[in-house]
Amino acid sequence: MHKGHDEKRQGEAFAPRSLANGLPLKRFYVESYGCQMNFADSEVVASILQQSGFGATQHYEEADIILLNTCSIREKAELTVRKRLTEFRKVKKYNPGLLVGVLGCMAERLKSKFLEEEKLVDIVVGPDAYRSLPELIIEAESGQKGVNVLLSRDETYGDISPVRLNSNGVTAFVSIMRGCNNMCSFCVVPFTRGRERSRDPKSIISECTNLFDEGYREVTLLGQNVDSYQWQQEPAGDDSIGPVSFAKLLAMVADISPSLRVRFSTSHPKDITDEVLFTMARYGNICKYIHLPVQSGSTRILEMMNRTYTREWYLSKVNRIRELLPGCGISTDVISGFCSETDQDHQETLSLMEYCQYDLAYMFYYSERPGTLAARRFPDDVPEAVKKQRLQEVVALHRIQSLKSMEREVGKTVRVLIEGNSKKSDDQWAGRSDNNKVVVFPKDGVLVKGSYADVAVESCTAGTLIGRLK
Ligand code: SAM
Ligand code: SF4
Repeated sequence: MHKGHDEKRQGEAFAPRSLANGLPLKRFYVESYGCQMNFADSEVVASILQQSGFGATQHYEEADIILLNTCSIREKAELTVRKRLTEFRKVKKYNPGLLVGVLGCMAERLKSKFLEEEKLVDIVVGPDAYRSLPELIIEAESGQKGVNVLLSRDETYGDISPVRLNSNGVTAFVSIMRGCNNMCSFCVVPFTRGRERSRDPKSIISECTNLFDEGYREVTLLGQNVDSYQWQQEPAGDDSIGPVSFAKLLAMVADISPSLRVRFSTSHPKDITDEVLFTMARYGNICKYIHLPVQSGSTRILEMMNRTYTREWYLSKVNRIRELLPGCGISTDVISGFCSETDQDHQETLSLMEYCQYDLAYMFYYSERPGTLAARRFPDDVPEAVKKQRLQEVVALHRIQSLKSMEREVGKTVRVLIEGNSKKSDDQWAGRSDNNKVVVFPKDGVLVKGSYADVAVESCTAGTLIGRLK
């Protein structure tokens, strides 16, 4: 499963796997929106608050502080959070001591405007300022509004061991970098998350090793643009590991154990190198699945989007992946109705999708974001009805392709990492194949969660492969 923006998880409340020892002084409730980076950040926030004596609750009614970790990527995401804030306004009426805080990209984008507009917000904290949260809470308790939206050039929270939220105990996300230096013209991320910076590889390896020792069997390395990961600082002394590229980092994580699966997301097509593809080919435990967002099939639109590749260049990258990694899953993101998009441009997106036969796609219609390059340079001139119509066509094509992609697996034997019971029955296991397809199969009474099983795929639905143990 690509963990860019998982609709099912939007608004999910923090469910701690373990609480800090002893009774907490105060209870906090965190709800997360947006991409997987935000969900991973909520785990860092939980860790910071637990270290300051706060305890988590999954019920906002019993919380002393409610935090919303927010997303600004599309207008709809912001509207959802605003609606949620008005709901919390009601809670505040019968619990006047309650503090409400906004974290993440919306906090960064709207800064103190939030405090002025949304009267119930007491705390506003941008993505690089979570360490200051405990002090900001103290300030807010004394009646001052707590704001910190400073972006940093070096904050990676590398030394903070995240508290795992809603964890199945088998798969976990590990942030390897923050921010983004690409300036895709439609995108607000470089403004809300700041400059790109890579996390110290030693802290990444240590976090992944700890996860493995705790029984986790899969890590997904996260960043807006993982392939541009680059660690330059050379630690002095015998333990120097020198500069570390993304390919080298992948190999270092894969070397922790052959039983630890490694995934990563997201790859910008311009940055994924042959070195990464060769590393993936070399290691059986680096999953053969790449999220390679194309955004549009038209070179003219790609240029306006400032994606820095053409249609042909993207297609040659897909060909290279298929050549070096046969059977590798490829997924994408598509935006319909970007500024000045014509029907011809839209047809080029559809034909590119036909060629690529994506296993999975995340599809959106263009939503202008204030302050972005596109908002400043180009009129948002495709009528909403046309954007939605084109998006529907993209979605319809993808439905056919993703079903075909599932059907291609029927008759094969796939290796599955068991993540837990299937949603439908406790008599069945559910897990994912190497190329990221959900697989369910009857239990045999011997295997446990976190173990690997070879499963013969007998049939499929649009979202699930159904099989039996080999
Ligand atoms: N860093 C990743 C990349 O470059 O592919 C993805 C970042 S973004 C969180 C996830 C997706 O949201 C993008 O790939 C894009 O398809 C979509 N997106 C970003 N800005 C958008 C906008 N203004 N309107 C519609 N979709 C947008
Ligand atoms: Fe946004 Fe482009 Fe950076 Fe992705 S690579 S986060 S789309 S600016």
